[in-house]
Amino acid sequence: MNNVLIIGGGASGLMAALELLKHGMQVTIIEAANRLGGRICTIKGNGFSQPVEAGAEFIHGDLPLTLSLLNEAGIKYHSINGKMVHVEKGKRKKESGLDHHWNELMQQMAALNHDMTLDDFLHTFFADDKYATLRASAKSFAGGFDLADTSTASTQSLYNEWSEGMEGQYRINGGYEELIQYLKTQCIQRGCTINTECCVKKINWQKNEVNVLTMCSRIFKADKIILTVPLSILHAAPESKNYITFEPAIPGHISAAGNIGFGNVIKIILEFNSDITKDKNAAGFFLTDEAIPTWWNQLPVNNTILTGWAGGEKVTSLKDNTDEYILGIALQSLGNAFQISVDDLSSQLKAYKIANWYKEPCIHGGYSFNTIKSTEAKKILRRPVNDTIFFSGEALYEGSPGGTVEAALQSGKKTAELLLKTL
Ligand SMILES: Cc1cc2nc3c(=O)[nH]c(=O)nc-3n(C[C@H](O)[C@H](O)[C@H](O)COP(=O)(O)OP(=O)(O)OC[C@H]3O[C@@H](n4cnc5c(N)ncnc54)[C@H](O)[C@@H]3O)c2cc1C
Repeated sequence: MNNVLIIGGGASGLMAALELLKHGMQVTIIEAANRLGGRICTIKGNGFSQPVEAGAEFIHGDLPLTLSLLNEAGIKYHSINGKMVHVEKGKRKKESGLDHHWNELMQQMAALNHDMTLDDFLHTFFADDKYATLRASAKSFAGGFDLADTSTASTQSLYNEWSEGMEGQYRINGGYEELIQYLKTQCIQRGCTINTECCVKKINWQKNEVNVLTMCSRIFKADKIILTVPLSILHAAPESKNYITFEPAIPGHISAAGNIGFGNVIKIILEFNSDITKDKNAAGFFLTDEAIPTWWNQLPVNNTILTGWAGGEKVTSLKDNTDEYILGIALQSLGNAFQISVDDLSSQLKAYKIANWYKEPCIHGGYSFNTIKSTEAKKILRRPVNDTIFFSGEALYEGSPGGTVEAALQSGKKTAELLLKTL
């Protein structure tokens, strides 16, 4: 029987494993953390009155593989609602006339016949002083939500994401962890071996023969291997403790990985004794100009949990700080936006979680974004090395939306199908 090792037990690794097991393969998963799920991390307990998501939270649209797995598993999900509003000093901010310029920006993006970085695009088409606010908004949107570095990010790819809109978003009842548990159970029932707290350090290989050495000095052998590690691990420098050595080296694939972007994010989840936004207008998302700029509640579920989000550049000055420091900044941001003193907020705080993904071992970041070189890079990474080493994960997905759980699941499934064809 053919033997496959899968490195990483997130959505992509579990999906690839399940697909291979369904075709009678012998599969072993090796995961560095002490739990499965990777960037899916539902927190149950910790003082929160309901499960909260430190990582993936939303299903961004009617995404076929995610929804079919949830339906197959009988896991319920619900539509989210609530308008997006701008808030400043406790009041809804009046629109600044940006909408008109934003339409112009989207039209120009749609008309672009060759790709360029967002910085170059704004410099070429929106350099006039009258577009200063638009330029700042576009950069902050790309950094904040796509975690993109605008000096390398692909304008065409951002356009594809931005033109999809916010309709049809869902949350999973009980959290994304339900999906991970379902995949794990399915894999185990089909004979999969799962090793956690096992960090891969070195991969010796030749065609159809792989020897893997872990940090805890275990050795695994197989015919083929699928790496589903986050891009940050493939970006790691040789002196970094995350670096994985390939013997012989595979420089073409590793340098291709360098041409796909990987951004940072910090998520702050706070539960208060009361609704501190005092919102009477059913707003779901609050955009502010604060250090932690974006906040959302759990509508349509009524509770007093607020989630803050800082992505891209906003993370740079925060990521090396302690959780307590970041909590202080978060409370200050909320206090400024909703005109409540930090003392009041602190006294009402029931539970909190700072999810600083930059500091998360073996993840070190949020999710991928497309640079202008990503299309070619993904083609290279999706090509197996000598039909023996395969790559998978959210960053390799060619469709939209990228950087999502759906992207990870789709990539895992496709990689397994590709591997099966090489037998
Ligand atoms: C804060 C945040 C919010 C997000 N929100 C959403 C959202 O709302 N909706 C959405 O669809 N997506 C969201 N995402 C993105 C989504 O979570 C990811 O795209 C997806 O979970 C990635 O799955 P993956 O299997 O590709 O990678 P991962 O989940 O990262 O799995 C890779 C695994 O490899 C392991 N690993 C790394 N190195 C080694 C090693 N050397 N040896 C062994 N194992 C190793 C890691 O520990 C990890 O478990 C969010 C991500 C973050 C961080």
